Amino acid sequence: MESSTPRIGVFFCDCGQTIKGLIDYDKLRDLAQNEKDVVHVDKVDFLCSSSSRESVTEAIRENGLDRIVVAACSPRAYLLEFQDVAERAGINRFMVEQSNLRDQVAWIHSLDEESATSKAMDQLAMSIARARKMRPSRFGPGAAVNEEMCSGCGVCATTCKAGVIDFKPIDGGHRVARVDRSECKACGACVAACPSGALNLEGFTNEEVIAEVDEFTEGLLDSKEPSPAILVFACHWCSYPAADLAGLKRMQMDARFRMIRTPCSARVDPEWVLRAMSRGVDGVLILGGSEGNCHYQGGNVRTRNRMLLLNKVLEQLGFDTSRLAVEWIDADEPYRFRAVIEDFVTKIAELGPSPMRAPAEEEKMTSALYHGRDELTHTAYR
Ligand code: SF4
Ligand code: SF4
Repeated sequence: MESSTPRIGVFFCDCGQTIKGLIDYDKLRDLAQNEKDVVHVDKVDFLCSSSSRESVTEAIRENGLDRIVVAACSPRAYLLEFQDVAERAGINRFMVEQSNLRDQVAWIHSLDEESATSKAMDQLAMSIARARKMRPSRFGPGAAVNEEMCSGCGVCATTCKAGVIDFKPIDGGHRVARVDRSECKACGACVAACPSGALNLEGFTNEEVIAEVDEFTEGLLDSKEPSPAILVFACHWCSYPAADLAGLKRMQMDARFRMIRTPCSARVDPEWVLRAMSRGVDGVLILGGSEGNCHYQGGNVRTRNRMLLLNKVLEQLGFDTSRLAVEWIDADEPYRFRAVIEDFVTKIAELGPSPMRAPAEEEKMTSALYHGRDELTHTAYR
């Protein structure tokens, strides 16, 4: 069942009570119940068990849910199973968002319930914001061209390592890009590279990520707290599993960062970074696999080059360039993950809040950055 107003179900998992006492579930439940469009909230002990998955199927049907947020372990472990649950319940399998509150929140901040709960609430709210923007997909993840916006420049085709983009002629000799969805690897590199914003990645759209960024940055411009506010983008194949591994090892680290998983670091659109910066984020960290290890054959190199360019833009706008960093972390490097996080959080904390955040009156008078914040959109880069 699809409806114009989202009907979101949020399902918490206590994972055999391994999260119990590490984050405050009552606060999470309250948050979920008060979120717009959330019409059903439930908590079970082992969400991954077949009986619990059956109960989720029934809850989707009984409550007319058209999308679900699973607040549990890593999507790398169980997202496919929950997509099967959605399909069995009669909704599109890509209407499932999984919020990783176990491995990447409860278990890596288990000595500090307050910080872990605060982070879990942010990550859950971000997931719900993302879920609101999800759209059913017929073909699953892959690049889609908006022909009306495509200039035919060819940047996407030169970016795509899979060689699945060609062109078709349209009126007046003009050409537009065409993606072979059956062979598209859904890395999203072409989407971030398109200078016209003519591409999007089904299953991982700009709208979904921007909803997460906007949720996290809500209110940051008006206050210097919490500080530092740090956003991390981590690629699904390399850095994100390193973070999961850190959780499995119960490695403890600073909780002052929030994470968005991306298919590849090359999917990180400069627009997302500018948007986060313009809305008061103090630092953005982009994580991908090391050179030679990128699942998508060099997506990481494209990321580094693109962000070097973006950093020049940020510098001209008045930001300290160390507020944006790109680091390589492979899947088997949980210790490096912790070291990179700790180093970045410390560095950004020392820099202090972004100049965008709650400037003093005299700073408002002189800060071109402050006055130009509304124009800080992708047009500053593209
Ligand atoms: S990069 Fe964008 S504008 Fe250029 S051909 Fe590809 S889809 Fe069209
Ligand atoms: S998403 Fe990746 S594989 Fe698919 S067309 Fe774009 S660059 Fe090529």
